Amino acid sequence: MLNAVGLKREKRNNMKSKKLIIIVVIALVAVALGSLIFSSIANSNDDPTTTKTTSSTTTTTNKGGSGTTTSTTTTTTTTTTTTTTTTTTTNGNGGNSTTTTTSGNGQGSQDPPDDPVHTHTEVIDPAVGATCEKEGLTEGKHCSDCGTVLVPQEPTDKIPCIEGGWIIDKEATAAEAGSKHTECTMCGKTMSTEVIPQLQLPVSEGLKFQLNADQQSYFVKRIGTCTDTVVVIPSTHEGLPVTGIGTYAFYQCTSITAVIIPNSVKSIGDYAFQDCISLSSIDIPSSVTSMGQYAFQGCKQLASVKISENISAIPNGAFGNCTSLTSVTIPSYVTSIGNFSFSGCTSLSTIEFKGTKEQWSAISLGTK
Ligand SMILES: [Zn+2]
Ligand SMILES: [Zn+2]
Repeated sequence: MLNAVGLKREKRNNMKSKKLIIIVVIALVAVALGSLIFSSIANSNDDPTTTKTTSSTTTTTNKGGSGTTTSTTTTTTTTTTTTTTTTTTTNGNGGNSTTTTTSGNGQGSQDPPDDPVHTHTEVIDPAVGATCEKEGLTEGKHCSDCGTVLVPQEPTDKIPCIEGGWIIDKEATAAEAGSKHTECTMCGKTMSTEVIPQLQLPVSEGLKFQLNADQQSYFVKRIGTCTDTVVVIPSTHEGLPVTGIGTYAFYQCTSITAVIIPNSVKSIGDYAFQDCISLSSIDIPSSVTSMGQYAFQGCKQLASVKISENISAIPNGAFGNCTSLTSVTIPSYVTSIGNFSFSGCTSLSTIEFKGTKEQWSAISLGTK
């Protein structure tokens, strides 16, 4: 009985432990399944864009004295940043070299890599024209990116001066020649100079001429029918030179304001312009070598007189009573000044003598 009971109990105990093992196995399976389901749910809740893949490879090779270590780490984040880092370290027998390349397109502000095959951007360096003072340059080219000169600019020779138009320095008048010059339009250098001939005013009509004793020349005998206020005496009459102004030729011609005497005239007679009360200026050309007595006496408007440089004597009364005359220049050739030559010249304040002090002292002076 006991044995039977004991067997039953043992059998029951065996049954119990088998049941326990089954329960444990079921429980383990249940836990495993639950874990799988949970994992699946957890994964499905993740934002797909934040999926991360991380791989790491490490290779180490040692050969004798030299060592090569290559380490590659790749981290990919599909959200906003992609970073690739490659580090290669080589230790050779000869020396050390380390190359590090890092590239990324995120918060990184690294420079773009150098373009190994650079294409030049051609820019034309315009030609510069040469002048008479400075060399020019031919057209050239350079790269606007790297500055490399592609076609060098060569110097060009200076060019000759460019002559401009005439520039008047002094206008010619009926009494005097003028002058003009040209300049280079670039550098301003004087290139040519020329004399402008004395103006040939139309000669006065109606003057009365008379042949000189030599039958080879004329002199002005009288004003004749001429009514000009500016009298222009011609240098020739009927093909012969006019060499003189006769005695009383313009005596008391009260309307004359100026007289143009040509270079052909050598002598001015006595009283030739006496009492020409409107005559204001006169040029006695250098051709004149003799002047008569009282030639300009009483010319009350005569303010300036240019006396021929070739006159040696200022005769008696030549400029007497020229009350407007303020200054007189006496040429150095003058060796005598006659009586009353400047008497009554109440405005005369300056007498300039062109000769030396000795020459002045040697002049024979008449009475005032
Ligand atoms: Zn370049
Ligand atoms: Zn020049």
